Amino acid sequence: MSDSTNYKLFINGSWRSGGNGADLALINPATAQQFGRVAVASASDLDDALTSAQASLQRWSNTPARERGALLVRAAQILRGKVEIAAAALSKEQGKTLSDAKGEYTRAIESLEWNGLQAKKLSAPFPIDQKRMIVPEAIGVVAAFTPWNYPAVLSVRKVAAAIAAGCPVILKAAEETPSAGVYIVEALEQAGIPSGVVGLVFGNPSMISEHLLGSPVVRVLSFTGSTQIGKQLATIAANNLQRCVLELGGHSPVVVFEDTDVSKAVSAISEYKFKFAGQSCNAPSRILVARSIYRDFLARLVQTAKRIRIGLPDDPETDMGPMANARRIEAMERLTKDAVARGARVETGGTRLDRPGFYWTPTILSNVHPESQVLHEEPFGPILTVAPFDTIEEAIEGANDTEYGLASYVFTDSPDIQQRMVRSLSAGAISVNYLKGVSADAPVGGIKQSGYGYEGGVEGLRAFQHLKLVNSANV
Ligand code: NAD
Repeated sequence: MSDSTNYKLFINGSWRSGGNGADLALINPATAQQFGRVAVASASDLDDALTSAQASLQRWSNTPARERGALLVRAAQILRGKVEIAAAALSKEQGKTLSDAKGEYTRAIESLEWNGLQAKKLSAPFPIDQKRMIVPEAIGVVAAFTPWNYPAVLSVRKVAAAIAAGCPVILKAAEETPSAGVYIVEALEQAGIPSGVVGLVFGNPSMISEHLLGSPVVRVLSFTGSTQIGKQLATIAANNLQRCVLELGGHSPVVVFEDTDVSKAVSAISEYKFKFAGQSCNAPSRILVARSIYRDFLARLVQTAKRIRIGLPDDPETDMGPMANARRIEAMERLTKDAVARGARVETGGTRLDRPGFYWTPTILSNVHPESQVLHEEPFGPILTVAPFDTIEEAIEGANDTEYGLASYVFTDSPDIQQRMVRSLSAGAISVNYLKGVSADAPVGGIKQSGYGYEGGVEGLRAFQHLKLVNSANV
C-alpha cells in the first residue's frame, strides 16, 4: 500500500515502487514547496500491468455482472469513509479548496455507485426482434489516461464503467495529482477486486502511452486531456485499431440576452468559472452580452470578481485557491500580455499574486481583438473575455467561432430564444440558465476539436462493450 505522500504503482494486485527505482517530486501549488513523491513505472512494470490485465480478462468478463456491480458499490462505500483524508490530499497536491475537493469525491462516489447499479442491466442481452438479439460483451483491456484537474471524478468515470462492463483497466493518472488514483484503487482492492483487473501507473506520460497503446492487448483508449495530446494518442491507437474515447479541451461561450436577470447570471457564471481557478474543461471562457445590458453586466462581473477571496485551499474563507502548477501561471501571463498588446482592456486582475505558490487573480478582459490568443487557445485558467453583441445572429456566430465544441451556455428567459440557441450552438452540451459539473447518469462528449465518444451514463459504459449481433433461425 502507498503511504500518504509516497505514492506507488498498483500492478497485478500489489503496490510496488517503480522497477528502475525512479520517482518524481510532488509540489504543493499553494506554497510551491515539495512534499512527497510518486513512483515512475519502468517498461517492465508496464509489461507486468499488461500481462496481468490480459490474464484477468476472461475471468472478470465471465464474472456475473451483478457481482461486478456489487464490488463497485462496496468500493463506493469504502471510499465514502475516506473522503476527508482523500480530499485533503487532493487539495494539497492540486490547489482546489477543501470543500471543492470533497465535492469532487462525492461525485466520484456517485459515479462508482451508478456504474455498479447499472452493470447487470447494461450487460444483459436484449432483442431487436424475434430472430435477432444483441449480446453485450466486454471489449477487452482498457488504457485510461486522466488529467490533474479532476483526478478523482475523471478517473472513476473511466475505471468504474470499464470494470462494470467486465474490462480490466490500466489507469495512468496524472503524476502531479496521484492521490486520487491511489485512494480509488485502494477502495477497489479493499472491496475485493481480483488481481490484474485494475492497474495504476505513473511516470513519463509519452513513454507510458506509447508502451500501452503499442500493445495489441489494449482494446480501448480512454483519454481526457488536451486536444493536442488526444490527437497524438489517437494516432498511435490507430495502429492497433484501438477504440478511442477522447474528452478534450474546450473554449466555452456564454451568451447573455437582455431579458436576463443580470445579477443572477453574473453570480452563476462567476461561481462556476472561478471556483477552481477556471481549470475545468467546460468552464466558460468568453462572454457575449446583449449591448443594452453590456455596461451593467460588465460592471457587476468586475465587482464580483474583485470580491473573490484568494487564499490557501484549506482555509474555509478561501473562494479560489492557486492554479495547479507553474505552467498554468506562465500561460496566464502569456495570454494576458498578448491580449493587452492587441488592445484589450484589463477590467480587473491580470496579475500573479506576490506570494509563494501559483496564484493568479480573477481576470476580466474587454475590447479583446479577434486575433488574440486568448480567444482561440483554451485559457484553462481564471480569465474571462467579455464583448457586446447586437443581434442574435451575431451572438450565434461569435459563440460558434471556435474550433472547440464542448460546452455552451445561454442566459435568457425567452423560450423562443432558448430553443433557437439550443438548435444553433455547436457544442456537446448546452446549458440554459445553468452552470454545473457533469453527473454520473448523463453521457457527455465533445464535438469538433473537443473530441468524440461519450463518458458517463449508458453510453459511457457501452464504450467498453462490443455489441455482438446474434441472428437465429430457430424461432
Ligand atoms: P500538458 O499537455 O503538459 O498535460 C496535460 C495532461 O496530459 C497531464 O495530465 C499529462 O500527464 C497528460 N499527458 C501529457 N502528455 C501525455 C502523453 N503523451 N500521453 C498521455 N498523457 C499525457 O498540459 P498542462 O499544462 O498540464 O495542462 C494544460 C493543457 O491540458 C490545456 O490544453 C488543457 O486543455 C489540457 N487539460 C485538459 C483537461 C480536460 O479536462 N480536458 C484537463 C487537464 C488539462
